[in-house]
Amino acid sequence: MRIDKLLKQKRTLSFEVFPPKKDGNAADGLFETVKRLKALSPDFISVTYGASGSNARDAAEISGFIKSIGTEPLAHLTGGPSSPDDIDRVATKLVSLGVENVLALRGDKPKDEDIEYCKYFKHASELESYIKKYGFCLGAACYPEGHSECETLYADLANLKKKEETGASFFITQIFYDNSYYYRLVGEARRMGINSPIIPGIMPITSTKNLPAVKSMCGSTIPLELRNMIEVYSGAPEVLREIGINYAVYQIIDLIAKGAPGVHIYTMNRADTAEAIYGRLENVFGRLFRA
Ligand code: FAD
Repeated sequence: MRIDKLLKQKRTLSFEVFPPKKDGNAADGLFETVKRLKALSPDFISVTYGASGSNARDAAEISGFIKSIGTEPLAHLTGGPSSPDDIDRVATKLVSLGVENVLALRGDKPKDEDIEYCKYFKHASELESYIKKYGFCLGAACYPEGHSECETLYADLANLKKKEETGASFFITQIFYDNSYYYRLVGEARRMGINSPIIPGIMPITSTKNLPAVKSMCGSTIPLELRNMIEVYSGAPEVLREIGINYAVYQIIDLIAKGAPGVHIYTMNRADTAEAIYGRLENVFGRLFRA
């Protein structure tokens, strides 16, 4: 089912997974993870696409697997490393697997790889225009604290409007740990005439290993109270995990109370983390996410 249609009917619960780096049987573990995530009745599961385009095959196959077990996949696609031929190849495969939803992205040039970047698709909006012919329901990314390359949030929002005009019918946010950034983004987006649903993206910090990813990939602000707890309990992994899960639960309840159209959880391929959040929120998901 198309995600834009789903969002008109209900509040969505969704998860993100990424293809494992290694070839061979590495995908098997992820298939098990996906089966466990399915048991939590998500409305869709998204699959990331390597910034260098290297795991394109796996990404399409994983999306196909999600579809085959009766859950809706959202396949990410990055234009930065891709040629029109690459995109046609993956898009054709996604169509043949019955995938209806694509998150159109630019991607970031990997620092350690000497590859040509953004030769054909400079921005996500150009990829959207190109893949329109396949009839996917398109989504795109947005940034509660503004994208790192934009001087102001407003310049970034002007570009977000372009992504809506070129076909995005919903947005998923970069991770954030202070909900006020999300509320500001939604308020300003509406003021600028961007009307598509904006789904908040939540990634629990369950280990100090998550911190470099938060800092370098996303640059998201970690509020002082959360930072303090992480520092105090950095030597106690089981406490840190509780803190991360409880903080995510707190964020989600606040977001739902203020009318967010859904929640997207970046699972980092950890089914147990998604299960722990779901376990604490079962009543909320059961009551407020029903059609
Ligand atoms: P764009 O929309 O092209 O924006 C990039 C920058 O250019 C921004 O500063 C924007 O304001 C500006 N801009 C946009 N359009 C225009 C325009 N028309 N003219 C001038 N400037 C413009 N990366 C991956 O490699 N694989 C993934 O699977 C992946 N999934 C993601 C999922 C989500 C929900 C999010 C939030 C990010 C994801 N990323 C992924 C990371 C993403 O690729 C990076 O954040 C990247 O830097 C920007 O991608 P974008 O699609 O937002 O790019």
